[in-house]
Amino acid sequence: MDNYVYIIGNKIYINLTNRCSNRCDFCIRQGRKGMGDTPLWLSEEPTAADVIEQLPLNLDDYDEEVVFCGFGEPTYNLETLDEVASYLHCVDKTTRINTNGQANLIYNGDVTDVVVTSCDVINVSLNECNAQKYQQHCKSVFGEKAFDGLLDFARKCREKGGNVVFSVVDSIGEEDIAECKKLAKKMGIPLRVRVKE
Ligand code: SF4
Repeated sequence: MDNYVYIIGNKIYINLTNRCSNRCDFCIRQGRKGMGDTPLWLSEEPTAADVIEQLPLNLDDYDEEVVFCGFGEPTYNLETLDEVASYLHCVDKTTRINTNGQANLIYNGDVTDVVVTSCDVINVSLNECNAQKYQQHCKSVFGEKAFDGLLDFARKCREKGGNVVFSVVDSIGEEDIAECKKLAKKMGIPLRVRVKE
């Protein structure tokens, strides 16, 4: 059975797709089948009904925030994301997306309206401080324009009132983290530095 929903601690996560425009060196999918005991490779992408069916019945017992984050870039399955988010908002949950920020490149058009409406927190993985380094480690199908694309995505989400946060992993080193901080500050977007697991 495909797992569209998985739980870590008290938090519900939603796994919408295995498609991704990147092939990051550090991707959690490398050599793994899933998270914990839950396999996350999918044979088919879910509809909203498929996801909702797998949500726990006792939703109130879980964290208020539900996270779109699985074995792929969630915005590849944007229609399902949008419908599931509407459902979650109706049952008093908030939503967060962990995204590579390349949705506008993936759709070759601006889809930030949908993302801002669906996701209460938009966590964009900045990963690196410039286009060259980003491409070196993340290997986007869009090449070096992926980095500017994700900055533009973040800017647009923010302009539309989205709660946007950048994230980097501390393993990129102090100098690059300092550059990322400068960039994030210039854009007025908070930066979260995560400790490498
Ligand atoms: S963007 Fe995320 S899912 Fe895609 S390859 Fe990178 S770490 Fe993996």
